[in-house]
Amino acid sequence: MVKHLYIHVPFCHRICPYCSFYKHTFGNINQSELVDSVLNEISIRAQNLELHIETIYLGGGTPTALSPKNLETLLTGINKKINPSNLIEWVIEANPSTFDLDKAKIIKNNSVTRVSLGIQSWNLSTLKTLGRDHAPDEAEESFEILRSCNFKSLNIDLMFSVPGQSLETWINDLHRTIKMKPDHISAYNLNYEEDTEYFEKLKNGEFNENPEKDGKLFKSAMEALRGSGYEHYEISNYALPGHQSEHNKAYWSGADYLGIGPGAFSTVHGKRWRNVADTNKYIESLKLNELDKIETEREIINASSFRTERIALELRTSRGISFDTLGKTKNRVEDLETEGLISRYENRIKLTDKGKMVADSVAAHLL
Ligand code: SF4
Repeated sequence: MVKHLYIHVPFCHRICPYCSFYKHTFGNINQSELVDSVLNEISIRAQNLELHIETIYLGGGTPTALSPKNLETLLTGINKKINPSNLIEWVIEANPSTFDLDKAKIIKNNSVTRVSLGIQSWNLSTLKTLGRDHAPDEAEESFEILRSCNFKSLNIDLMFSVPGQSLETWINDLHRTIKMKPDHISAYNLNYEEDTEYFEKLKNGEFNENPEKDGKLFKSAMEALRGSGYEHYEISNYALPGHQSEHNKAYWSGADYLGIGPGAFSTVHGKRWRNVADTNKYIESLKLNELDKIETEREIINASSFRTERIALELRTSRGISFDTLGKTKNRVEDLETEGLISRYENRIKLTDKGKMVADSVAAHLL
């Protein structure tokens, strides 16, 4: 039985230089053909899988970049193809200035419970460095539109360790965000992913990494957000009580999920695949109901790779990992505890604040 659905909409109005997701501008691709293909893929998958969908994450790309008509067709179509009575959470990613009140109402009226707004920064210079095309005031206006629609949860995405961003700028970003009282805040450390413009700039020396400064920015986020009542429940995620993301928690805990749309990953019954990261090819194959042509990068998730993923993902959460999951490396816990990087509770371990600063190294030590 599959309980979690991810749907990928690859369109963006413009491309951010640090982004490694599968995405592209609209070009000459017909939006409504992509929407029809996505809905068709759900129907075909549902013939072979038992879907009992409890959470949906509509990501991208920028789903809110779809026209109002196409967005409505997509959302109403999803509601018809799954049984919405089992839903406990439906998330949509949105970017400032890609929706107005009418579009927000379409989203709200189609059972979406959570909107994740990609603001990233309130500082114009940081936004410019990130290649974002919204101004701080437009982001605030977009947030207020969502607030007026009474979604159950609103998230704001922020980014730190952006080239040129000072500690003071980052703290101002945190304070302005807290003042707006979103239910959830994601604060991501910028990563230099391969095949991005930023990665090239890092390689050619135009940008530099500074782990010491990253640590200070991360610490200031923990202090400011926890001090304002947000629970730090995953390294990059903070929630007011009752607003943790159920979809993400399912993903971190290793639950099966079905990914729909070009470039989407799925993990179902020990098998993983990626839908072809080529929107035209995806649309053409779905017109002919040819699922075998869209599935790429197929792999079997064996016990060893499942354990590796559990350690990497669950260690990042405030629940941490059970000793049963750790298995053969249980005996390494003591060293990490002595160094003050982890603490024990019940039959589990979790990162301390010091450990959160070096989470990847702690996970590597436990593999
Ligand atoms: S808007 Fe989001 S998905 Fe699109 S390029 Fe920027 S970061 Fe990537």
